[in-house]
Amino acid sequence: MILFNLTCASGHEFEAWFRTGEAYGEQAAAGAISCPDCGATEVRKAPMAPSVSRGVAKRQDVLSELRRVVESHFENVGENFADHARQIHYGEAEARPIYGQATPEEVKGLLDEEIPVLPLPLEVDHDA
Ligand SMILES: [Zn+2]
Repeated sequence: MILFNLTCASGHEFEAWFRTGEAYGEQAAAGAISCPDCGATEVRKAPMAPSVSRGVAKRQDVLSELRRVVESHFENVGENFADHARQIHYGEAEARPIYGQATPEEVKGLLDEEIPVLPLPLEVDHDA
């Protein structure tokens, strides 16, 4: 049996056991796996948490993987990140995972308002 971390199209993460990796593939293709949160059958394997013990040499890999995850699951709001984060935090916009650009001052302002943001050392596209 293999335990996979899975994620649905809405970004819910859950765990499921499979007889083999192949069994996972077959069940996923057949739509036989559904998200326990929303019932979506469009699921895929979630990336495993990067292991910090692998050292600095892997830092670039981790960053590329992080970037891939962020870009595939989060909405790019471009340079207006701080505005969007604020609107979501105060319920003025639909709650969803977002990423974008913010200046250090904007990040500090958000953190001062106890809005949970995570500064990442990533370049993001400007064409939001
Ligand atoms: Zn879901």
